[in-house]
Amino acid sequence: MQTTIVGYPRIGARRELKKYTEQYFRAEITQAELLLSAAKLREAQWLRQKEKGLDIIPVNDFSLYDNMLDMAFLLNVIPARYRELGLSALDTYFALARGHQKDGQDARALKMRKWFNTNYHYLVPEIEAGFKPNLQNNKLFEECAAAENLGLNYRPALIGPYTFLRFSLNKSAQSLDALADELAAAYSQIFSALAAYNCAYVQLDEPALALDLTADDIVLFERIYARLLAEKHGQKILLQTYFGDIRDIYTRVITLDFDAIGLDLVEGGQRNLELLEKYGFPAGKKLQAGLVNGKNIWRNDYQKSLVMLNRLAKILPQEQLVLSTSCSLLHVPYSVRYEQKLAEKYKQRLAFAEEKLEELSILKNLAINPDGDILRRNQEIILAGQNDPDFLNTQVREQARQSAAAEIVRQPDFAARQTAQQKTLKLPPLPTTTIGSFPQTPEVREWRKAYKQGELTAAEYKKHIKEKIKTVIARQEELGLDVLVHGEYERNDMVEYFGEHLQGFVFTENGWVQSYGTRGVKPPLIFGDVSRPAAFTVEWIKYAQSLTAKPVKGMLTGPVTILNWSFPREDIPLAEIACQIALAIQAEVLDLEKNGIKIIQIDEAALREKLPLRRADWQKDYLDWAVKAFRLTHYLARPETQIHTHMCYSEFEDIIETLKALDADVLTVEAARSNLTLLSALADYDKGIGPGVYDIHSPRVPSVEELADILRKMRARLDIAKLWVNPDCGLKTRAEKETLASLRNMVAAAAMLRQEN
Ligand code: GLN
Ligand code: ZN
Repeated sequence: MQTTIVGYPRIGARRELKKYTEQYFRAEITQAELLLSAAKLREAQWLRQKEKGLDIIPVNDFSLYDNMLDMAFLLNVIPARYRELGLSALDTYFALARGHQKDGQDARALKMRKWFNTNYHYLVPEIEAGFKPNLQNNKLFEECAAAENLGLNYRPALIGPYTFLRFSLNKSAQSLDALADELAAAYSQIFSALAAYNCAYVQLDEPALALDLTADDIVLFERIYARLLAEKHGQKILLQTYFGDIRDIYTRVITLDFDAIGLDLVEGGQRNLELLEKYGFPAGKKLQAGLVNGKNIWRNDYQKSLVMLNRLAKILPQEQLVLSTSCSLLHVPYSVRYEQKLAEKYKQRLAFAEEKLEELSILKNLAINPDGDILRRNQEIILAGQNDPDFLNTQVREQARQSAAAEIVRQPDFAARQTAQQKTLKLPPLPTTTIGSFPQTPEVREWRKAYKQGELTAAEYKKHIKEKIKTVIARQEELGLDVLVHGEYERNDMVEYFGEHLQGFVFTENGWVQSYGTRGVKPPLIFGDVSRPAAFTVEWIKYAQSLTAKPVKGMLTGPVTILNWSFPREDIPLAEIACQIALAIQAEVLDLEKNGIKIIQIDEAALREKLPLRRADWQKDYLDWAVKAFRLTHYLARPETQIHTHMCYSEFEDIIETLKALDADVLTVEAARSNLTLLSALADYDKGIGPGVYDIHSPRVPSVEELADILRKMRARLDIAKLWVNPDCGLKTRAEKETLASLRNMVAAAAMLRQEN
């Protein structure tokens, strides 16, 4: 039995790659220096994998920015607007990734999209013509040569042609079938070039097989692979799937001429096992069994994995098995070794990428020779986690369980609440507001840093923040906004701030995970029961409200977003974790209300992100409990308290019923970049609605006339009595100057429309 992984993180344990690339962007180092540093980092990681006992090491999983972009580059899928810039290959690559604005040249970056249901984002290739693989100086071959020099047993990994095609934009005049044929030919050329290298297998990542597949999808997949597998140029092909089961295509896949198939036995593990048991596995081929979770950070439960291995042993002989991860380790941090502050008893429960390498080799040994001591110790750690007295809160558990079972409905209904709210709030038609944050100036970040490092006392820090709040309230009054915000100056980030004030969360020092390109996130870990020791937003909001007669919104992050942007525990269902967080937020809602706050916004920025990959699973596996958790936060609010929510995207066609079911009085959404296509989806929405009227992702200041025009379009499609006027979210990332200018124009545009009515 051998071990391998699907892929490894690449940003560097200390985010070295981010530093190098950003230095290069600032022209502080040369291209050669960047490439050399990156190659060193890459090699060090390979050697680490080897040292940890990995039998087969993937290469080309490394990337300077993104693997989809790498594949586009290898296939020469480079839109004309970038080629015309006349840049070096590397600079063209970065131009696709980040856009290029220099010396009068201006090319926007490729679109970025979420990679399945992870928090990673990939660049969406644009296919303008066919595919002419660029086999000269490509990193794929460079990496193979480098791995060979080090004497490694390696396997190049590529995004598979089917996933590549499905996740690109077809801007060519060709049909999908024609592109598929060309693509198969292009991959075949790549294989032929790879024949010069000494690698037994080539890995083709086809996570798209875990999505719902139509009959046409299956035909397309088979069309590509029938051609591709007909000429393999000596290598063996590993079809690597992940992020779920492949129920729609398993029976087809096992008849095709793949030499190895990688299955995710964590997400969709039960289903994949059932497929294996029901339809068997072809003799002589390798099964790459993804037993170690690539998406979460807990220690593997060896007992459970051995049970899986026993089931597999009934289907195929051990020689055919390769132990692997469920998906690439890209989605977890590097190593627990870098955590100095975390207590040992917490650390022992964690397995980041490097620890997962160790787990694979332990599992391999256990499979051959089950060692009682290792198993016992592993069970102890896992049990200790489940019953950790540091986090056990039986009251919250009970409450969450009861809530999960109960019907949660706010009373009275929206119509009655609307009347009550209008009576207290007396807002004008087309009320104006913002989404919560105001520009976080460098001084704010300095204060926070100084406070965290003990250079500012809590009292001093608070005083500074309150001064900022005072200023921002005054500015908003000057601008004439109707519903004000406190600016969120006390928050680094909308989830971290909440995690820090709730029990049950643990933070790492170095637990960075790539979100896209050079950007990383450091998700909190949900270690145990979540509860709220004390109110933590009330003081700020109450202070802001004391400065003005206009309503100030209480500003909270919703339970689903907090959960989705954290690493969740696995000993209780996600639904229950969401309920626990919801109860904590509910307590905050009620405290804000008690303190005279009349409008409370509960952001669910990430509600859509973790929709299951298969539509059949949406409701039962996710939306049912996600909606309930959100309702739990606000259903006890008084009728006259207005509840807002906010979402960071504009694809609503398919979840409009969910939006209604959230039962918030007002919903603000990101809209400006969607060309208002969402208006038709929202026409049917039954409560207050505020589609963003301008894009805040650039410093550009929209004119009054332009904004009035957008509002007129919105008025034509939506019920004006329910329409709110606000920008998109994220003002925190803008400078003050353009923010104030844009908001001034927005308020003027709203006033203009009120006149027209
Ligand atoms: N209230 C937050 C803000 O305005 C919402 C952030 C978000 O939508 N991602 O920054
Ligand atoms: Zn948003």
